[in-house]
Amino acid sequence: MRQPLIAGNWKMNTTKDEAIALVKELRPELDIINNTEKLVCPPFISLVAVREALVGSTVKVGAQNMYFEEKGAYTGEISPLMLTGICEYVIIGHSERRQYFREAGETISKKIAAAIRHNIRPILCVGENLGEYEAGQTREVVSDQLKSSLSGVEKGDTLTIAYEPVWAIGTGKAATGKQANETIHLIRTFIAGRFTSRIADNIRILYGGSVTASNIAEFVAQPDIDGALVGGASLKAKEFTGIVKVTSQTRK
Ligand code: PEP
Repeated sequence: MRQPLIAGNWKMNTTKDEAIALVKELRPELDIINNTEKLVCPPFISLVAVREALVGSTVKVGAQNMYFEEKGAYTGEISPLMLTGICEYVIIGHSERRQYFREAGETISKKIAAAIRHNIRPILCVGENLGEYEAGQTREVVSDQLKSSLSGVEKGDTLTIAYEPVWAIGTGKAATGKQANETIHLIRTFIAGRFTSRIADNIRILYGGSVTASNIAEFVAQPDIDGALVGGASLKAKEFTGIVKVTSQTRK
């Protein structure tokens, strides 16, 4: 039985003080929920402070990105060694990284392999854009992204995948539970072929795109959807705790 995961991607929001304040508000509400894994992914600059504010908490900390080299002349980058001991998870290949920073297959695959080598659990994001969705190319696009993003990855056990249709991110237009489950089922089938069916059965595949406390039940009630990657709603304590509570109740 896969335990659901609700991950908050704070993106480029919150100063260090705001990050601490947000996590202090979340902590008491989230700590009492134990059948759902909870994760916050603040900006790099706040990771240490958030980690310290969460000592003794069941809320985990993740990064939003990471470079694949351990150290060296890579100005502005953050390495897996720097995240070790602070983060349990790292988001890789988010559509905003693909769109604004030209991240693609080989780089993403190297980042995932590096995270796994350093015992940081990668959350690989995949998803089609609006044009691709309207052209009926979702299956093809997602399969191609999975193929290239996992090309250099040998062990899939610690992988989490987030299916995030780009047209649903930050738009208020979420996919339906049925739509998302269909693509997520396809992703699970791909993982069975790429790794093993045991790995496909065990890994968590999340939905992401305009998730709120009001629509999360529709997603986590689906057989293949194991939680959500939440953007905008993760910055509002009441909304994020609501998403976690509804997930926990739906999965009881
Ligand atoms: C995201 O950026 O991963 C995301 C899903 O954003 P939002 O929830 O705001 O659509």
